[in-house]
Amino acid sequence: MEIKFHGVRGSIPIPSKKFLEYGGNTTCIEINSEDFQLIIDAGSGFKNVQIRSEVPTFLLFSHFHHDHLQGLSFNSALFSSRHQLHVASGLVGLEGLKSALSIAFTPPLFPLDLINDNLAFNFMDFSTLQAAAIDFFSVEAFSLCHPGGASGYKVSIGNSSVVCGLDHEYGLDDSLDANFHRLSQGSDLVIWDGMFTDAEIEDKRGWGHSSIEQAVDFSSCSDAKLIFITHHSPHREDKELDHIANNLLSDRVKLARENEKLEIL
Ligand SMILES: [Zn+2]
Ligand SMILES: [Zn+2]
Repeated sequence: MEIKFHGVRGSIPIPSKKFLEYGGNTTCIEINSEDFQLIIDAGSGFKNVQIRSEVPTFLLFSHFHHDHLQGLSFNSALFSSRHQLHVASGLVGLEGLKSALSIAFTPPLFPLDLINDNLAFNFMDFSTLQAAAIDFFSVEAFSLCHPGGASGYKVSIGNSSVVCGLDHEYGLDDSLDANFHRLSQGSDLVIWDGMFTDAEIEDKRGWGHSSIEQAVDFSSCSDAKLIFITHHSPHREDKELDHIANNLLSDRVKLARENEKLEIL
């Protein structure tokens, strides 16, 4: 499968030239294989996803904070009758999913009723999506430590797997961290919430994000092949990310960049 990062920024898009080397769009991750397309979260990067009409397309929401859904209405493929997206979340059931998205995408916060009037969306419970996807991939949801909750995902095809842990505060809930570790063992890629540095996180406990340094700690006790840090702070300029990449990270722990593609066999 191929992984592509369409958005690597947390909180708010940052379309400024000091941020463009790593990218300014918020969270959206695309997983492609020959016979399916899976998208995790629809932050502003979702606008740039090429929705494939020849294979089933699935969209999973980790949770419903602005930076994970604000691009949902701006992918032009949604307004074409050729496309249909199977949409679910491990965090809530069908009614909770529609209710959460309706807050953002019906009047008065949005001009149209995108949730009830857009035929491209096929909303479902997470278990229904799991069943619909079973011929293509398996996906497991797990709980993360984040205000209001968030759902991580482990996506597997055969012996290959990707674990997405967005958004998550590492070090606050031992049982959730232990489960994250367990699911990550043997995986090909872990996607890590690196919103803060260790220095910044001191007075941001309970905000629901981890640090960049914690990804390095995690890698030292995990046999995951690669850890990609994303959800970069909207305050962190390219030069600071370059400095971090050169001084803190390793071949196994990297900073994700917008439009970056990874092939996992
Ligand atoms: Zn977020
Ligand atoms: Zn969040």
